[in-house]
Amino acid sequence: MAKLKEFNTTELPTWCPGCGNYSIIASVKKTLSELNLEPQNTVLVSGVGCFAKLPYWIKTNGFVGLHGRSLPVAQGVKLANPKLTVLAFGGDGDGYGEGGNHFLHACRRNVDITYIVHNNSVFGLTTGQYSPTSEKGRKSKSSLLGSTEQPINPLAIAIASGATFVARAYAGHTKETVEILKKAINHKGFAFVDIIQPCPSYVPEHNQKYFKDKIDYLDETHNSGDKIKSMENALKGGFEEKSVCGIIYQEK
Ligand code: SF4
Ligand code: MG
Repeated sequence: MAKLKEFNTTELPTWCPGCGNYSIIASVKKTLSELNLEPQNTVLVSGVGCFAKLPYWIKTNGFVGLHGRSLPVAQGVKLANPKLTVLAFGGDGDGYGEGGNHFLHACRRNVDITYIVHNNSVFGLTTGQYSPTSEKGRKSKSSLLGSTEQPINPLAIAIASGATFVARAYAGHTKETVEILKKAINHKGFAFVDIIQPCPSYVPEHNQKYFKDKIDYLDETHNSGDKIKSMENALKGGFEEKSVCGIIYQEK
């Protein structure tokens, strides 16, 4: 078994204090270790954004590519060597904006990779423009009077596009996030996990108190194999209302 420390790098992350990326990287490392994955047989692929630096700081194979383009690279890696465990990372701006087209087609193509999206509802790296998951009315550098657009619902899009594993986690709950990530990596096919994360620098109103009221988990009665019920739960998710976490849909 690869010990947790085997995934550590000598350099330390440089995200802002309080950034949700710290919890997400801790959860990813714990997941890789608990699944006994070997660093040399694991590949992490990212695009552009604050989140995209994650492969710098986990000692595995890594590839940092173009904005919104982690999915085509990750699928290519997996097809070239199916023995590798491949994780692709995206951001809500990167993955749902620039990479939205790749997301739709990865869902229906069902290549056996895991796609993790750091969803903080803002373009953090470029200093705070509203993103595809920002709530209507969000004031930002690029929406001075408030965004007039409806946010997209990535979970509902994924189910409708044919994804065979769709889940949501919250960065602040590492224990639950690790359990969700383990199931996603073990799923045979395209597994998508949207992780709600705070960005204290550009969305300070999304603080601990905000998420305490917002995050909700599916109970045991939820049948994740029932596509219609799963879609109902997916449609509840977002920054505008309760964000439902857990395995929303898994094709049985
Ligand atoms: Fe994290 Fe936001 Fe800082 Fe980026 S800008 S490192 S997302 S807190
Ligand atoms: Mg973002």
